[in-house]
Amino acid sequence: MMRLNGVELAWGAASDRGLRRSRNEDAHLAEAPLFLVADGMGGHRGGAEASARAIAEFGGLVGAAVTPDAVQEAFTRAVRSVDGLGSGSFSPGTTLSGAVLCEQGGEPYWVILNVGDSRTYRLCDGVLAQISVDHSSVQQLIDAGTISPAEAERHPYRGVITRALGAGSTATPDYWLLPVVPGERLLVCSDGLTKELGPDDLARVLSAESSPQGAATRLVHEALLRGGRDNVTVVVVDVVEALAAGRDEDDTAGATVPRAEEREGSEGVAHGQL
Ligand code: MG
Repeated sequence: MMRLNGVELAWGAASDRGLRRSRNEDAHLAEAPLFLVADGMGGHRGGAEASARAIAEFGGLVGAAVTPDAVQEAFTRAVRSVDGLGSGSFSPGTTLSGAVLCEQGGEPYWVILNVGDSRTYRLCDGVLAQISVDHSSVQQLIDAGTISPAEAERHPYRGVITRALGAGSTATPDYWLLPVVPGERLLVCSDGLTKELGPDDLARVLSAESSPQGAATRLVHEALLRGGRDNVTVVVVDVVEALAAGRDEDDTAGATVPRAEEREGSEGVAHGQL
C-alpha cells in the first residue's frame, strides 16, 4: 500500500514458469508508482536477460513522483540496454506493457505504455476493458477485418509480434493517458495469461477476488490449470483512494475524485505520443 499525490494504491503480483517452458523469461516490476510486465524472447538465456534489462531501467523511478518525461527517458534507456544484447531480428528482445502513476501540474494520472503483446486492462464498475493494443500479426489481421478476435485466439500466427524492445525492432511504444478513478483495478499481464483465459474469465476472477495479491495469485493458478503453455506473469493494482486534485488533504478528508460516470467527458482514453 502506498500513497502518492493523494492517490492510495494497493497491488499484488505473481509469476510462474508454466508447465511447458524450461525457464521463466518474463520479468515484472510492481512497486508504486510502476506496474510493468516484460515478456522476453530469444534463445538460450537471451529472453530472460532482455526482459530483466528492460524492467531494470525503470527501477530508479520506484517511490518517486514520476513525470511522463521520466517514463519516456526510462523507456529510451531500456531500448538501449536491450539493444546491447545484439542486433538483428534474431537477437533477444522483449515486450513491455504496464501503467505508471504520473504527476503533472499537480494532477495524478495513469500513463499506460505498450510494445508487443503483453497487455494492460482496466476493470471499473465490473466492466473490463483492454487498454493496450497488441503489436502482433493477428492484431493487424483483426484491424484489416480479415479475422475476428475469436479467430485470432486460434490463429497459427498468434504468437508473432510486430514490435519489441530489441530483436531488431524500432521499439516505438504506444502511450495512453487515463484518469485515476477510485475503485478501479488495473491488470498487467504477459500473454501466458491471455492465451489461457479469455476476457470473461479475467473479469470473473478480478471481480471475485477482493485483494490484488489474491487476484494475481488466482489468475496465475487458473492459467496453469488450463495448460500453462507459456510463462505467465500477472500484476494487479487497485486505486484505493484518489483525493480531489488541487486541494489539501486536510480540507477534503474522505473526499474522492468523482466516479467515472459522474464526470463529464472524462470517460475514454487519450491515446498518442506523450
Ligand atoms: Mg509469453
